[in-house]
Amino acid sequence: MMVRSDNPELLKAQYRAFTRQVPMMYLILLSSTWALAVTHMHVAPPWLTIAVPAVFSIGCIFRMIFWWRTRNIDPPPSVAHAALARTNRLAACIAVAFTLWSFLLIPYGDAYTQSHVAFYMAITVISCIFCLMYLRSAAFVVAAIVNGAFIAFFISSTQPTFIAIAINMLLVCVGMISIVLTNYRNFERMVVSQQRTEVLSNENFKLANMDSLTDLPNRRAFFAHLETELRTARDAGTRLGLGVIDLDGFKPVNDLYGHSVGDRLLIEVGKRLSSALKASAAFRLGGDEFAIIAPYIPDDAQLVINANAIVEQLRAPYHMPEGTVQISASMGIAVFPDLASTREQLFDRADYALYHAKRTRRSEAILFTADHESQINAEARIEHMLKQTELESELFVVFQPIVDISNEQTIGFEALARWDNAVLGRVSPAQFIPIAERAGIVSSLTRPLLKKALASASQWEDHLRLSFNLSAHDLNSCEGVLSVVGIIESSEFDARRLDLEITETALAHDVEQVKRSVEMLRHLGCGISLDDFGIGYSSLTRLHALPLTKIKIDRSFVTCLHDKPASHKIVKSLLTLSRDMGLECVAEGVETAEELAALRQLGGTLVQGYFYSPPLSAHDVGKFLSEQRAKSVMAEREYDKL
Ligand code: C2E
Ligand code: CA
Ligand code: CA
Repeated sequence: MMVRSDNPELLKAQYRAFTRQVPMMYLILLSSTWALAVTHMHVAPPWLTIAVPAVFSIGCIFRMIFWWRTRNIDPPPSVAHAALARTNRLAACIAVAFTLWSFLLIPYGDAYTQSHVAFYMAITVISCIFCLMYLRSAAFVVAAIVNGAFIAFFISSTQPTFIAIAINMLLVCVGMISIVLTNYRNFERMVVSQQRTEVLSNENFKLANMDSLTDLPNRRAFFAHLETELRTARDAGTRLGLGVIDLDGFKPVNDLYGHSVGDRLLIEVGKRLSSALKASAAFRLGGDEFAIIAPYIPDDAQLVINANAIVEQLRAPYHMPEGTVQISASMGIAVFPDLASTREQLFDRADYALYHAKRTRRSEAILFTADHESQINAEARIEHMLKQTELESELFVVFQPIVDISNEQTIGFEALARWDNAVLGRVSPAQFIPIAERAGIVSSLTRPLLKKALASASQWEDHLRLSFNLSAHDLNSCEGVLSVVGIIESSEFDARRLDLEITETALAHDVEQVKRSVEMLRHLGCGISLDDFGIGYSSLTRLHALPLTKIKIDRSFVTCLHDKPASHKIVKSLLTLSRDMGLECVAEGVETAEELAALRQLGGTLVQGYFYSPPLSAHDVGKFLSEQRAKSVMAEREYDKL
């Protein structure tokens, strides 16, 4: 029952409650002591009625001031513990001193003054027990010393009234102590439950603001922190940097090694990020997206160097029990107040820079610049124009032949979108398709384009196939794919002569829905080509989930393939892979005879590219075919002559 130090919170609460009551105890002591001294002044010597009470008073006032001054201070648990333990010892001394003084007064007076001493001792001890109820040990010490002496003294007096008072006092004291005990237990329970509630609410706060996997603050905390830092920067007139990071190649790791490895990889990325930062803070925004808020930033050039150093650290191999994993990261950076003045703008611009990093300079950090701003404006204009009513009539398709190099015969054409806008002029599909995708309106482009492509192709000879590019968004929803199916069914073109080209990005979305969509299209008889193969990171297991019929090797591997051993190797393995999987393979973007020769040597058969023809208008398709036919007749004749 001594002062406990095992629960610091309880100790502090005890200290707080105690300091609020103890000055009152000294006040009661003072007033009753002087009341007793006054009634004894004419009978007892002055050293007993003036000097001793005066010494007591000085002590009491001194302690009263001490406690009064510390009442609002929240001391550390060790200090509180020491103060309470000291009070315990002091309580014993005070009890002995006051009791002794009371007994010294008894011989001097008559029955009245003696009764006053008894009253004084009883009432003061009761008040003290009450005032000391948060320091049970002190309350017990005082009760034991004062009452022990009191009861022993008055019972031994053989005076019946005093004996009765002593017995009564004993009973009252027992009652008081039990009340103090109950009260203290309730107090303890209350403090502990308050503590639990605090822990719980701390935990709730943590749950709401921390990412449970990486232990980094989460998206919610990110926006709150960004808001605060932005306000500080605005007030102080300083710059604030925001970096948004997206991992490159995380999905395949997840697919190939499983989610537990993916999770550990994210934890490791979180750790590397945190240790790479000094004054800045790292956050996990969700999935494989992270962010950095940097309040103290150098000039732009140094900022990009620092950001690239972080990206570099994330690129170092990750050693896991399952094997060594290598991924990289791209980062978009925006700076307040340079080109962004609000929280939303800062985030959007960093995100835009990230999008650019992903598209153009993968695995690097890119700072949002004035160029990006004009690009945003241009894109906004394009998006605005895409939403206007004349779009359908402004869109048309051109056709690029796909040639079988074993017999130099065109086997089909790929339809490519073209848009001649009244205001903007000719806009490249490489520009407007991604904008339409981001704006969520790409199906309003797919529909008229597919109709026009099918209408042209239905005029072709029966052996020619048509390839048409679908956007991931066309396959992502049931309505999207049903509208494609509807257009194919209502056209005069045989679905079995149609190849639909999709890119790996389709798999970045709802894989199950994409699978259903692709299966529905296969059911119609369409072929499915995987476009731009090689540039993504899709693992083969993922690709295998789709019933593909063709793959198209991306132009980036075909360009100068005869000169670049790396490209040569990749094309070779992609050709082997497609053969093993029983898929046809088209090499895109063949521009030169050297590239063609290299492809031929590697066993490639289907080729598309400027070497044979740029995309042609619907009108020029027939001309191209007759010219090709004429050429091959000539070649046959030459061959016959030999
Ligand atoms: P893609 O599907 O990979 O199309 C091939 C692109 O390469 C076409 O660009 C084509 O003109 C170009 N190309 C073909 N041969 C060569 C060559 O030898 N050298 C060079 N440098 N380029 C060559 P285009 O027409 O500008 O289309 C760009 C992209 O826009 C397409 O890439 C495709 O992803 C998208 N796209 C085009 N039309 C459509 C469409 O109707 N729907 C959808 N969703 N996307 C489309
Ligand atoms: Ca294509
Ligand atoms: Ca392509």
